[in-house]
Amino acid sequence: MVYSAAQFGENAKVIGRFAPSPTGPLHIGNLRTAVIAWLCAHQRDGELLLRFEDLDRANSKSEHEARQINDLAQLGMTFGSNVIRQSERFDLYREIVEGLRQQDLMYPCYCTRREILESIQAPHGPTIEGAYAGTCRNLSARDRSEREQSGRPPAWRLRTNNETYVVDDLVAGPTITVIDDMVLLRNDGVPAYNLAVVVDDAEQGVTQIVRGDDLLLGTGRHIHLQKLLGYPTPQYVHVPLVVGQDRERLAKRHGAVTLEELGQRGIGSQEVLGELARSIGSQIERPQSVNDLRTDFSLERLPRSPWTIPADWQTVHHDN
Ligand code: GLU
Repeated sequence: MVYSAAQFGENAKVIGRFAPSPTGPLHIGNLRTAVIAWLCAHQRDGELLLRFEDLDRANSKSEHEARQINDLAQLGMTFGSNVIRQSERFDLYREIVEGLRQQDLMYPCYCTRREILESIQAPHGPTIEGAYAGTCRNLSARDRSEREQSGRPPAWRLRTNNETYVVDDLVAGPTITVIDDMVLLRNDGVPAYNLAVVVDDAEQGVTQIVRGDDLLLGTGRHIHLQKLLGYPTPQYVHVPLVVGQDRERLAKRHGAVTLEELGQRGIGSQEVLGELARSIGSQIERPQSVNDLRTDFSLERLPRSPWTIPADWQTVHHDN
């Protein structure tokens, strides 16, 4: 079955969201995704919500949040007061896990990271990134109690049948994804991204999700959870990533990859916006704000391959 956003109606107002992790400054790839998400939403009088995915408590910082907000504002994207943080919603996520546990849909998993990696390398193992082979799914009572006695707290996984879903993606096209028994509650008690993202998108009434296509193959997991929890499936728009001159995914080593770093090299935010505009197929010359791109934006013109940042944005040059 193909899941699409038909349930929201073709002309319904779009509620989108941009959901960065405040673990550092946004890089050009994140900003480009935000621009596309903003345009997809505002093109039809919709709205783009901002949500901080700060489940990683050790690395999430309020100063990163402030800087991310500031960088988005420099390109003309501002958000109302309804910004949410996942760290403030743990009780809600745990309550949902409890509901699933009561339906006998959860099981404890005692595997270490290493055991999981080893099981993935086994021939014919599942192929999605981080996929779990189901080692603890059917432990006998004896095995389970032995593992409990080791004192290592379990993570809690969702029992699935490795279902297949076709994501009807507006940019990537119909894409087959196979799901696994994903972790919903980590063994340190922290809710997992896959759970929080699905709960929040539904609770915030999100109808369209624009994000990097590195998350495309994990989307089946989200659709599965939406069905279990009785949530609608939003429209998915996975956009190709931004890469350096070496065609590798943009990373710090490529040099100036944040607005601040570019500014220090004399490349101001208007110039950055101009490049981003060209990269998404816009014909508008010298936009001052993302709002100037609204009239001529069309997802159809968005290139379907990764976008390579301009050579002079990089401090590290590659010869090929
Ligand atoms: N928090 C994720 C990230 O920063 C985004 C997840 C999503 O958009 O679903 O990569």
